[in-house]
Amino acid sequence: MKAAVLTTPGKVVDRPLHIAELPKAEAGAGQVLLRVLACGVCRTDLHIVEGELAPRRESLIPGHQIVGEVVGGATPELPIGARVGVSWIGGTDGECWYCRHNFENLCDAPTFTGYSVNGGYAEFAAARADFVFPLPEGLDALHAAPLLCAGIIGFRSLRVAGVEPGERVGLFGFGASAHLAIEVLRSWGCEVYVSTRGASHQKLAESLGAQWVGSEVVRPPVELDRAITFAPSGTVVVAALASLRKGGVVAINAIHLDRIPEFDYDRLLWGERQIRSVTNMTRADAREFLTMAAQIDLRPKVTTFPLEQANEALAAIKGDAVDGAAVIIP
Ligand SMILES: [Zn+2]
Ligand SMILES: [Zn+2]
Repeated sequence: MKAAVLTTPGKVVDRPLHIAELPKAEAGAGQVLLRVLACGVCRTDLHIVEGELAPRRESLIPGHQIVGEVVGGATPELPIGARVGVSWIGGTDGECWYCRHNFENLCDAPTFTGYSVNGGYAEFAAARADFVFPLPEGLDALHAAPLLCAGIIGFRSLRVAGVEPGERVGLFGFGASAHLAIEVLRSWGCEVYVSTRGASHQKLAESLGAQWVGSEVVRPPVELDRAITFAPSGTVVVAALASLRKGGVVAINAIHLDRIPEFDYDRLLWGERQIRSVTNMTRADAREFLTMAAQIDLRPKVTTFPLEQANEALAAIKGDAVDGAAVIIP
Protein backbone atom coordinates (compact mmCIF):
# COMPACT_ATOMS: atom_id res chain seq x y z
CA MET A 1 0.00 0.00 0.00
CA LYS A 2 1.02 3.58 -0.50
CA ALA A 3 1.72 5.59 2.66
CA ALA A 4 3.35 8.81 3.85
CA VAL A 5 6.06 7.74 6.29
CA LEU A 6 8.04 9.64 8.90
CA THR A 7 11.41 8.26 9.95
CA THR A 8 13.27 11.42 10.94
CA PRO A 9 11.27 14.42 12.16
CA GLY A 10 12.16 17.74 10.60
CA LYS A 11 10.80 21.06 9.39
CA VAL A 12 8.03 20.56 6.81
CA VAL A 13 9.85 22.73 4.24
CA ASP A 14 12.46 19.93 4.16
CA ARG A 15 9.75 17.37 3.32
CA PRO A 16 10.24 14.94 6.23
CA LEU A 17 7.44 12.61 5.06
CA HIS A 18 8.37 10.28 2.23
CA ILE A 19 5.85 8.46 0.09
CA ALA A 20 6.59 4.75 0.22
CA GLU A 21 5.15 1.44 -0.93
CA LEU A 22 4.68 -0.69 2.21
CA PRO A 23 3.16 -4.12 2.90
CA LYS A 24 -0.60 -3.66 3.29
CA ALA A 25 -1.71 -3.05 6.90
CA GLU A 26 -3.35 -6.03 8.59
CA ALA A 27 -6.08 -6.26 11.19
CA GLY A 28 -4.67 -7.74 14.42
CA ALA A 29 -6.77 -9.27 17.18
CA GLY A 30 -9.66 -6.97 18.06
CA GLN A 31 -8.92 -4.69 15.13
CA VAL A 32 -10.65 -3.78 11.90
CA LEU A 33 -8.82 -3.07 8.67
CA LEU A 34 -9.96 0.10 6.93
CA ARG A 35 -9.57 1.31 3.40
CA VAL A 36 -8.89 4.98 4.04
CA LEU A 37 -11.35 7.27 2.25
CA ALA A 38 -10.10 10.53 3.77
CA CYS A 39 -7.78 11.63 6.55
CA GLY A 40 -7.93 15.07 8.12
CA VAL A 41 -4.72 16.97 8.82
CA CYS A 42 -4.45 18.29 12.37
CA ARG A 43 -2.01 20.75 13.88
CA THR A 44 -0.86 17.94 16.19
CA ASP A 45 0.35 16.07 13.07
CA LEU A 46 2.58 19.04 12.38
CA HIS A 47 4.00 18.88 15.93
CA ILE A 48 4.69 15.15 15.45
CA VAL A 49 6.28 15.51 12.01
CA GLU A 50 8.45 18.43 13.09
CA GLY A 51 9.53 16.61 16.27
CA GLU A 52 8.00 18.91 18.89
CA LEU A 53 6.32 15.78 20.21
CA ALA A 54 9.04 13.20 20.92
CA PRO A 55 9.01 10.24 18.47
CA ARG A 56 7.38 7.06 19.79
CA ARG A 57 8.26 4.81 16.83
CA GLU A 58 11.19 4.42 14.45
CA SER A 59 8.89 4.66 11.47
CA LEU A 60 5.44 6.22 11.62
CA ILE A 61 2.45 6.82 9.39
CA PRO A 62 0.79 9.96 10.87
CA GLY A 63 -2.87 10.94 10.68
CA HIS A 64 -5.61 10.67 13.31
CA GLN A 65 -8.79 11.93 11.66
CA ILE A 66 -9.47 8.84 9.57
CA VAL A 67 -12.63 8.06 7.66
CA GLY A 68 -12.47 4.51 6.37
CA GLU A 69 -14.50 1.63 5.06
CA VAL A 70 -14.24 -1.73 6.85
CA VAL A 71 -12.51 -4.24 4.54
CA GLY A 72 -11.20 -6.71 7.13
CA GLY A 73 -11.71 -7.90 10.71
CA ALA A 74 -15.46 -7.33 10.31
CA THR A 75 -17.82 -7.97 13.24
CA PRO A 76 -21.64 -8.06 13.41
CA GLU A 77 -21.58 -4.40 14.52
CA LEU A 78 -18.93 -3.43 11.96
CA PRO A 79 -19.70 -5.37 8.78
CA ILE A 80 -17.65 -5.20 5.58
CA GLY A 81 -18.35 -1.86 3.90
CA ALA A 82 -19.34 -0.01 7.10
CA ARG A 83 -18.07 3.58 7.14
CA VAL A 84 -16.33 4.52 10.36
CA GLY A 85 -14.24 7.28 11.86
CA VAL A 86 -11.06 6.98 13.93
CA SER A 87 -9.74 9.71 16.18
CA TRP A 88 -6.66 10.60 18.24
CA ILE A 89 -7.50 8.21 21.09
CA GLY A 90 -6.96 4.87 19.39
CA GLY A 91 -7.34 2.86 22.60
CA THR A 92 -7.06 2.90 26.38
CA ASP A 93 -5.92 0.27 28.88
CA GLY A 94 -9.42 -0.02 30.35
CA GLU A 95 -7.85 -0.74 33.75
CA CYS A 96 -6.43 2.40 35.29
CA TRP A 97 -8.32 4.48 37.85
CA TYR A 98 -9.46 6.93 35.17
CA CYS A 99 -10.79 4.26 32.81
CA ARG A 100 -12.68 2.65 35.69
CA HIS A 101 -14.22 5.98 36.72
CA ASN A 102 -15.59 7.19 33.41
CA PHE A 103 -12.62 9.43 32.59
CA GLU A 104 -11.12 7.43 29.74
CA ASN A 105 -9.89 10.70 28.21
CA LEU A 106 -7.39 10.83 31.11
CA CYS A 107 -6.21 7.19 30.79
CA ASP A 108 -2.68 6.60 32.11
CA ALA A 109 -1.71 4.41 29.15
CA PRO A 110 -3.58 5.51 26.03
CA THR A 111 -2.84 4.61 22.41
CA PHE A 112 -2.59 7.61 20.10
CA THR A 113 -3.56 7.10 16.46
CA GLY A 114 -0.89 8.35 14.08
CA TYR A 115 1.61 8.74 16.92
CA SER A 116 2.07 5.64 19.08
CA VAL A 117 0.49 3.49 16.33
CA ASN A 118 0.27 4.03 12.57
CA GLY A 119 -2.45 6.37 11.32
CA GLY A 120 -4.31 7.32 8.20
CA TYR A 121 -1.89 8.98 5.77
CA ALA A 122 -2.10 5.73 3.81
CA GLU A 123 -4.35 3.64 1.60
CA PHE A 124 -5.14 1.26 4.49
CA ALA A 125 -5.08 1.50 8.28
CA ALA A 126 -5.82 -0.88 11.16
CA ALA A 127 -7.71 0.36 14.20
CA ARG A 128 -9.11 -1.09 17.42
CA ALA A 129 -12.68 -2.11 16.66
CA ASP A 130 -13.92 -0.76 20.00
CA PHE A 131 -12.42 2.67 19.22
CA VAL A 132 -13.96 3.30 15.79
CA PHE A 133 -17.19 5.23 15.37
CA PRO A 134 -19.82 4.26 12.80
CA LEU A 135 -20.60 7.40 10.80
CA PRO A 136 -24.18 8.63 10.39
CA GLU A 137 -25.54 8.45 6.81
CA GLY A 138 -25.62 12.20 6.34
CA LEU A 139 -21.88 12.70 6.83
CA ASP A 140 -19.75 12.22 3.72
CA ALA A 141 -16.14 11.11 4.14
CA LEU A 142 -14.55 14.38 3.10
CA HIS A 143 -16.54 16.55 5.49
CA ALA A 144 -16.55 14.02 8.33
CA ALA A 145 -12.74 13.79 8.53
CA PRO A 146 -12.09 17.22 10.13
CA LEU A 147 -14.82 16.55 12.67
CA LEU A 148 -12.89 13.64 14.15
CA CYS A 149 -10.37 15.65 16.18
CA ALA A 150 -11.04 19.38 15.99
CA GLY A 151 -14.78 18.82 16.07
CA ILE A 152 -14.94 16.30 18.90
CA ILE A 153 -12.48 18.23 21.10
CA GLY A 154 -14.35 21.48 20.45
CA PHE A 155 -17.56 19.73 21.49
CA ARG A 156 -15.92 18.41 24.66
CA SER A 157 -14.73 21.95 25.46
CA LEU A 158 -18.33 23.16 25.43
CA ARG A 159 -19.22 20.43 27.91
CA VAL A 160 -16.24 21.09 30.16
CA ALA A 161 -17.31 24.73 30.22
CA GLY A 162 -20.80 23.56 31.22
CA VAL A 163 -22.62 25.37 28.41
CA GLU A 164 -26.42 25.39 28.74
CA PRO A 165 -28.79 26.21 25.86
CA GLY A 166 -29.32 29.94 25.35
CA GLU A 167 -26.23 31.05 27.30
CA ARG A 168 -23.73 33.72 26.33
CA VAL A 169 -20.52 32.00 25.30
CA GLY A 170 -17.16 33.51 24.34
CA LEU A 171 -14.78 31.84 21.91
CA PHE A 172 -11.24 33.22 22.21
CA GLY A 173 -9.41 32.27 19.02
CA PHE A 174 -11.22 31.08 15.91
CA GLY A 175 -9.41 28.20 14.16
CA ALA A 176 -10.38 24.67 13.13
CA SER A 177 -12.02 23.73 16.43
CA ALA A 178 -13.86 27.01 17.13
CA HIS A 179 -15.39 27.30 13.67
CA LEU A 180 -17.13 23.96 14.29
CA ALA A 181 -18.01 24.73 17.94
CA ILE A 182 -19.85 27.92 16.96
CA GLU A 183 -22.30 25.94 14.84
CA VAL A 184 -23.06 23.62 17.74
CA LEU A 185 -23.59 26.65 20.00
CA ARG A 186 -25.89 28.31 17.48
CA SER A 187 -27.97 25.13 17.28
CA TRP A 188 -28.34 25.35 21.08
CA GLY A 189 -29.61 28.91 20.76
CA CYS A 190 -26.51 30.41 22.41
CA GLU A 191 -25.24 33.94 21.80
CA VAL A 192 -21.64 33.63 20.67
CA TYR A 193 -19.00 36.32 21.23
CA VAL A 194 -15.78 35.77 19.26
CA SER A 195 -12.45 37.37 20.13
CA THR A 196 -9.85 36.62 17.50
CA ARG A 197 -6.97 38.09 15.56
CA GLY A 198 -7.04 38.51 11.83
CA ALA A 199 -9.68 39.91 9.49
CA SER A 200 -10.39 36.59 7.74
CA HIS A 201 -11.13 34.74 10.99
CA GLN A 202 -13.30 37.62 12.14
CA LYS A 203 -15.22 37.62 8.87
CA LEU A 204 -15.75 33.86 9.07
CA ALA A 205 -17.06 34.19 12.65
CA GLU A 206 -19.52 36.84 11.51
CA SER A 207 -20.74 34.72 8.62
CA LEU A 208 -21.31 31.80 11.01
CA GLY A 209 -23.63 33.84 13.19
CA ALA A 210 -21.46 35.36 15.92
CA GLN A 211 -23.36 37.94 17.95
CA TRP A 212 -20.22 40.03 18.31
CA VAL A 213 -16.69 39.82 16.90
CA GLY A 214 -13.64 41.66 18.23
CA SER A 215 -9.88 41.43 18.54
CA GLU A 216 -8.28 39.31 21.26
CA VAL A 217 -7.65 42.23 23.57
CA VAL A 218 -11.09 43.87 23.41
CA ARG A 219 -13.51 42.64 26.02
CA PRO A 220 -16.93 41.46 24.77
CA PRO A 221 -19.66 44.04 25.49
CA VAL A 222 -21.57 41.76 27.91
CA GLU A 223 -20.62 39.45 30.79
CA LEU A 224 -20.24 35.88 29.54
CA ASP A 225 -21.60 32.72 31.13
CA ARG A 226 -18.83 30.58 29.62
CA ALA A 227 -15.65 31.09 27.64
CA ILE A 228 -13.45 28.70 25.69
CA THR A 229 -9.88 29.64 24.80
CA PHE A 230 -8.12 28.02 21.84
CA ALA A 231 -4.84 29.97 21.65
CA PRO A 232 -1.72 28.61 23.42
CA SER A 233 -1.59 31.89 25.33
CA GLY A 234 -2.08 32.50 29.05
CA THR A 235 -2.79 36.17 28.37
CA VAL A 236 -5.87 35.09 26.42
CA VAL A 237 -6.96 32.91 29.36
CA VAL A 238 -6.84 35.94 31.66
CA ALA A 239 -8.74 38.03 29.10
CA ALA A 240 -11.41 35.31 28.99
CA LEU A 241 -11.57 35.19 32.78
CA ALA A 242 -12.04 38.95 32.91
CA SER A 243 -15.10 38.67 30.68
CA LEU A 244 -17.02 36.21 32.90
CA ARG A 245 -19.93 36.77 35.21
CA LYS A 246 -19.76 35.35 38.75
CA GLY A 247 -19.91 31.55 38.65
CA GLY A 248 -18.74 31.50 35.02
CA VAL A 249 -16.24 29.00 33.61
CA VAL A 250 -13.23 29.30 31.30
CA ALA A 251 -12.32 26.05 29.52
CA ILE A 252 -8.81 26.01 28.03
CA ASN A 253 -8.62 23.99 24.81
CA ALA A 254 -4.84 23.89 24.42
CA ILE A 255 -2.24 21.19 25.08
CA HIS A 256 0.35 23.82 25.87
CA LEU A 257 0.24 27.38 27.26
CA ASP A 258 3.16 29.79 27.31
CA ARG A 259 2.45 30.97 30.88
CA ILE A 260 -0.50 32.44 32.72
CA PRO A 261 0.35 36.00 33.75
CA GLU A 262 -0.23 37.10 37.32
CA PHE A 263 -3.84 38.23 37.80
CA ASP A 264 -6.03 39.76 40.47
CA TYR A 265 -7.73 36.94 42.37
CA ASP A 266 -10.21 39.24 44.14
CA ARG A 267 -11.55 40.71 40.95
CA LEU A 268 -11.14 37.89 38.41
CA LEU A 269 -11.48 34.51 40.14
CA TRP A 270 -13.34 35.12 43.39
CA GLY A 271 -17.09 34.83 42.93
CA GLU A 272 -16.78 31.11 42.12
CA ARG A 273 -15.40 31.63 38.66
CA GLN A 274 -13.48 28.58 37.41
CA ILE A 275 -10.59 27.80 35.07
CA ARG A 276 -10.57 24.28 33.64
CA SER A 277 -8.46 22.49 31.05
CA VAL A 278 -9.75 20.20 28.30
CA THR A 279 -7.84 16.95 27.74
CA ASN A 280 -8.45 14.50 24.91
CA MET A 281 -11.92 13.01 24.48
CA THR A 282 -14.07 10.05 25.40
CA ARG A 283 -15.87 7.72 23.02
CA ALA A 284 -19.17 9.06 24.32
CA ASP A 285 -18.09 12.59 23.27
CA ALA A 286 -17.33 11.28 19.78
CA ARG A 287 -20.59 9.39 19.33
CA GLU A 288 -22.77 12.22 20.59
CA PHE A 289 -20.95 14.84 18.58
CA LEU A 290 -21.09 12.86 15.31
CA THR A 291 -24.81 12.23 15.75
CA MET A 292 -25.33 15.90 16.36
CA ALA A 293 -23.12 16.94 13.43
CA ALA A 294 -25.34 14.90 11.10
CA GLN A 295 -28.49 16.42 12.63
CA ILE A 296 -27.35 20.02 12.19
CA ASP A 297 -25.68 19.26 8.84
CA LEU A 298 -22.29 20.46 10.05
CA ARG A 299 -20.06 20.78 7.00
CA PRO A 300 -16.59 22.17 7.63
CA LYS A 301 -14.80 24.03 4.88
CA VAL A 302 -12.20 21.68 3.41
CA THR A 303 -9.19 21.82 1.09
CA THR A 304 -8.08 18.44 -0.28
CA PHE A 305 -4.57 17.14 -0.95
CA PRO A 306 -3.52 13.84 -2.57
CA LEU A 307 -1.39 11.55 -0.38
CA GLU A 308 1.70 12.48 -2.42
CA GLN A 309 1.30 16.04 -1.15
CA ALA A 310 1.17 15.23 2.57
CA ASN A 311 4.17 17.53 3.20
CA GLU A 312 2.43 20.35 1.33
CA ALA A 313 -0.74 19.82 3.38
CA LEU A 314 1.23 20.20 6.61
CA ALA A 315 3.06 23.25 5.25
CA ALA A 316 -0.31 24.83 4.40
CA ILE A 317 -1.56 24.23 7.96
CA LYS A 318 1.64 25.69 9.37
CA GLY A 319 1.36 28.78 7.18
CA ASP A 320 -2.35 29.27 7.97
CA ALA A 321 -2.88 29.00 4.21
CA VAL A 322 -5.87 26.68 4.39
CA ASP A 323 -9.39 28.00 4.43
CA GLY A 324 -11.04 25.67 6.96
CA ALA A 325 -9.50 22.19 7.26
CA ALA A 326 -6.98 20.23 5.16
CA VAL A 327 -7.92 16.68 4.20
CA ILE A 328 -5.73 14.03 2.54
CA ILE A 329 -7.43 11.77 0.00
CA PRO A 330 -5.26 8.68 -0.56
ZN1 LIG B 1 -6.80 3.76 31.47
ZN1 LIG C 1 -5.86 16.34 16.30
